[in-house]
Amino acid sequence: MQLRFIRKQHENGNVWSFFFEPASPFSWKPGQFLYCSLKHNHMDNRGDHRYFTIASAPHEQTIRFTVRYFETASSTFKQKMFSLEPGAGMDVYPPDGSFTIEDYSKKYLCIAGGIGITPFRSQCNNFNHEKAFPDLVLVYGSQTPDPIFSQEFDAYTKTYPRFNVLYRIAPQVINAEFITGHVADYKERLLYVSGPEPMVKTIAPMLQTLGVPKRFIKTDYFPGYTI
Ligand SMILES: Cc1cc2nc3c(=O)[nH]c(=O)nc-3n(C[C@H](O)[C@H](O)[C@H](O)COP(=O)(O)OP(=O)(O)OC[C@H]3O[C@@H](n4cnc5c(N)ncnc54)[C@H](O)[C@@H]3O)c2cc1C
Repeated sequence: MQLRFIRKQHENGNVWSFFFEPASPFSWKPGQFLYCSLKHNHMDNRGDHRYFTIASAPHEQTIRFTVRYFETASSTFKQKMFSLEPGAGMDVYPPDGSFTIEDYSKKYLCIAGGIGITPFRSQCNNFNHEKAFPDLVLVYGSQTPDPIFSQEFDAYTKTYPRFNVLYRIAPQVINAEFITGHVADYKERLLYVSGPEPMVKTIAPMLQTLGVPKRFIKTDYFPGYTI
């Protein structure tokens, strides 16, 4: 499968979105990812393949990847992606992943750290498109005071009483005290945790110590980021 690059957009700080169109249409579920291949010269040892969550929702018809980019300090893969011209191709494997929310009768607690917001952006945008939000609390930790996609989430809270977003801006942290203090019914919810690997590996065991069975916790971690 191939994508064609359309444009990139600066979100904030070191976060950028890259928009592509599929060379031929394909379907995916909000929360799924693509395994991407971008051949380039002078490749570093991180290689020419990356997993990226599709941050857009299917109805938007474009494939959006939202990633962190550190200019010259970034991998050669990211530098190549950053230099793409409109019309340039990128090979991808079929959509994959089970970090999806399909049963709207259940209650959810979704916890995102930074760039880990991408699957929840796709899901919430899709719920809004379908005009049907499940009962969902989004806890969103950010290193910056203007978390990406926060305007969209804030707008949804005004329309859907069953949706709530709680921000934790550094130096605030997402810890056991915060969850028990702000999401009283967390044990009745299915838990989804997404973010850089160190964050997910801290939060998921913390939830288990709060009495949430492991089978109720789904994780999606982004390797390659230390914070
Ligand atoms: C299922 C799945 C879905 C994913 N979805 C996404 C997604 O939606 N978005 C996404 O961004 N990633 C996602 N990832 C992770 C992605 O595949 C890459 O591993 C990740 O983006 C890191 O990319 P990179 O190796 O090119 O490193 P780079 O982004 O180039 O660099 C990452 C690391 O380099 C170091 N670094 C270099 N320069 C700096 C600097 N100036 N400041 C701080 N640190 C610096 C840090 O250790 C940093 O964490 C996903 C991974 C999986 C498995």
